[in-house]
Amino acid sequence: MQPSLEKLRKFFRLEHENKYQNTAIIGGLAKMLDYWEGEARADGITEEVIQAVVSRLRSYEKISPDGRAESLKGLWKRIGETYPEAGQRPKQAQQPPQQKPPAQEAKPESRQESAPRLAPQQQSQPQQQQQKPRQNPPPRSEAVVGAKHSQTPAALSAALTVLQGVGPRNAEALEKLGLQTLGDMLYYFPRRYEDYSQLKPIQSLMYNDVVTVLGTVQSVHSRPIRGGKSSVIEVIIGDGTGSLRISYFNQPWLSNRFKEGEAISVSGKIDQYLGRLVMNSPDWEPVEVENLHTNRIVPIYSLTERITQKWLRNQMNSVITYWAPAVVDALPETIRRAAQLVSLGEALTQVHFPDSQARLQLARERLGFDEIFYLQMGVLRQKRDWKSVDGRRFSVSDEWLGTRLSALPFTLTSAQQTSLDDIRKDLDSGKPMNRLVQGDVGSGKTVVAALGASIVVSGGAQAAIMAPTSILAEQHYRNFIKLLAGDGGIMSQSEIRLLVGNTTESEKEAIRQGLQDGSIKIVIGTHAVIEPDVLFKDLQFVVIDEQHRFGVEQRAELRSKGTNPHLLVMTATPIPRSLALTVFGDLDISVIDVMPEGRQPVTTFVLRPQERERAYTLIRGQIKNGNQAFIVYPLIDESEKIDARAAVDDFETLSKQVFPDLKLGLLHGRMKPSEKDEVMLKFRDKEFDILVSTTVIEVGVDVPNSTVMLIEGADRFGLAQLHQLRGRVGRGSVQSTCLLIPTHEDATENERLQAMAVTNSGFELADLDLKLRGPGEFLGTRQAGYATTLKMASITDVKLIEKAREQAQALFERDPDLSQPEHALLAEAFERFWGAGKGDVS
Ligand code: ADP
Ligand code: MG
Repeated sequence: MQPSLEKLRKFFRLEHENKYQNTAIIGGLAKMLDYWEGEARADGITEEVIQAVVSRLRSYEKISPDGRAESLKGLWKRIGETYPEAGQRPKQAQQPPQQKPPAQEAKPESRQESAPRLAPQQQSQPQQQQQKPRQNPPPRSEAVVGAKHSQTPAALSAALTVLQGVGPRNAEALEKLGLQTLGDMLYYFPRRYEDYSQLKPIQSLMYNDVVTVLGTVQSVHSRPIRGGKSSVIEVIIGDGTGSLRISYFNQPWLSNRFKEGEAISVSGKIDQYLGRLVMNSPDWEPVEVENLHTNRIVPIYSLTERITQKWLRNQMNSVITYWAPAVVDALPETIRRAAQLVSLGEALTQVHFPDSQARLQLARERLGFDEIFYLQMGVLRQKRDWKSVDGRRFSVSDEWLGTRLSALPFTLTSAQQTSLDDIRKDLDSGKPMNRLVQGDVGSGKTVVAALGASIVVSGGAQAAIMAPTSILAEQHYRNFIKLLAGDGGIMSQSEIRLLVGNTTESEKEAIRQGLQDGSIKIVIGTHAVIEPDVLFKDLQFVVIDEQHRFGVEQRAELRSKGTNPHLLVMTATPIPRSLALTVFGDLDISVIDVMPEGRQPVTTFVLRPQERERAYTLIRGQIKNGNQAFIVYPLIDESEKIDARAAVDDFETLSKQVFPDLKLGLLHGRMKPSEKDEVMLKFRDKEFDILVSTTVIEVGVDVPNSTVMLIEGADRFGLAQLHQLRGRVGRGSVQSTCLLIPTHEDATENERLQAMAVTNSGFELADLDLKLRGPGEFLGTRQAGYATTLKMASITDVKLIEKAREQAQALFERDPDLSQPEHALLAEAFERFWGAGKGDVS
């Protein structure tokens, strides 16, 4: 008998002995298909038999043990029809003498790690084996015999290489998605879903429909195209109401996968070709198999290089099937009931492979609840901690402040004035200030921070301002000097100092000295200010600019250089109010939602890709007038080569062919921080006419001379991010332009981009972004690094937020530190949530 059939027989036999629990192979019988198909072909097994095996085993796990027995027997019978020597029922099959352990022999690297590969329901099985030793023990893989299973979260921290089909190479690719453990997989939620659950007869298909069609293969043709350089496979399927052509390009191996007369289901988008409806490269599968890829609500995951949607979905399916039900639900039953939530296991299962839109909704609600709940618990704790200490009081008279304000080169906007009032009250409250000033790019946050610092300095104490880059720090430094040490200022220049990475050693020493003896009042800098040897005489005011760019520890570090100093964090990320209340619940918030007068709103146009030349013409015109331009490319993931290439490649073309007469600079994420700073400085100092860049262009940098922002691949950005980028221009008095060029013309994408053309308000756009794309997108790491823990909670869902906050509040009153024994699991989950996330802003 052929080795591949021999192998089948062994496993079927084992499975029979295991009472059809789908345990003969770790991860289920279907797992063997990963390699069996190839071996069977190598053995010359007929395609009919291979497909029979494949389809039965794929659906095996879904059926009851009785059904499984029938299925295997039927399958073996079918095999016997073609290969009579194999035609005995598996349990009667003769046992060949001593065999090699078969299951994982092809993958020795994974053998010793394979314990967690066991499905939860297998756990009792090895014991049964021991209790009832068999006379003639069947060949067992070591893994099955020696496996232990634990339902504790520890099992979920197993590395992904324990999965069949995940070797070191794939594990590395998965790591790029942030996936290292089984637990990470459970929480790697689909980016979106395709609802293929609606079957449609061919007759009623319409152009652009996204559907699943069930039909029988009528014909399969393969033909060369483009002079033999490529090939296309055309499959006609029919369902009695009509027939549909599906095509696959350059996948010649598919041609013998489709069998005439076989029923398949295909899912995808209906296209048009020469007036007829067609489908191009749809997902497909034989109809008997479990409908993982078609005929259901299909999850779509974010991918990375080397990983396909189908592959990841398969991996996800095995992880979810076995592990989601085994996850321990830390949320106390009482809270779950009160908030009417489904169990965590159900939620994790349904969020990946929803059985219906309704169950998906419940799953999302449960997972969203958890996020808000844990976030709120943490925020309450922080607020309590911060309220428990005293803060030094600083107060100034109206007259004193009036003098400061009249020395400014402009009048504060009403919103700046309100923020300043808030800060003034905080400083005089006897508690440390803990305030977030949130204001659109260019709304004028710096001056508010400077005035706050001046109040504290006038009270005899010191202030420190930390910005994420030296160019920003330098910009603040110049502003502070202008505002506080200019004519009629309250300080001398030498009392305000700049401390960045490349400050000379002697200057650094002088600054350290001055801060320690109190002769320097304000230090402005980068991470350099939190170095251990920087000590203050009396630090009472700490400002963190672009707060999301800093880690929790760095903020804490700066704060610890004083005794309960007042803290002001600033952000330009527009956050809708409902979100701010949740994420920054421990902070008081001031919003600067009014722009200084005299700003020319940026005019925004959405161009088609083929209109690019118009954009170049406009750029040339502006540069002729002495202005500068940005050209920005998307960078989805800095670690991915593809995206970095876009900017680098185009830079070549742009500088050699499009603008050979102009000076172009290049900025991308793979450059060192010092190199980036250098390029930015050169651009600011007009050594470049055009800056070609990935999204790394620094937030907050003021280059008033730049008047054009061209964004390539604009559809790949969130609205909030587009708005941030647009904020780089329009800072001077000259009318500025923002040009958006999407990668392709898609109606919905264009709707989103058109919103950019309609409004200049970051808050409006942020709200719209939430509605159109959901919080997952909005809270993407790059837009809001502090809230990456919120993957599921819909921040627009005020009801859910309220519910979670209510429950958190109630629990916090009963057991603020989760020290009661019945909250032990919850305490653990809470630690995990806060340990992994960056919800802390203080
Ligand atoms: P951001 O809020 O983005 O940090 P900045 O503080 O850098 O904004 O301010 C942007 C520009 O606006 C600066 O050049 C600043 O001098 C100017 N500015 C700030 N407030 C006003 C105002 N009330 N009127 C006019 N210009 C202002
Ligand atoms: Mg700023």
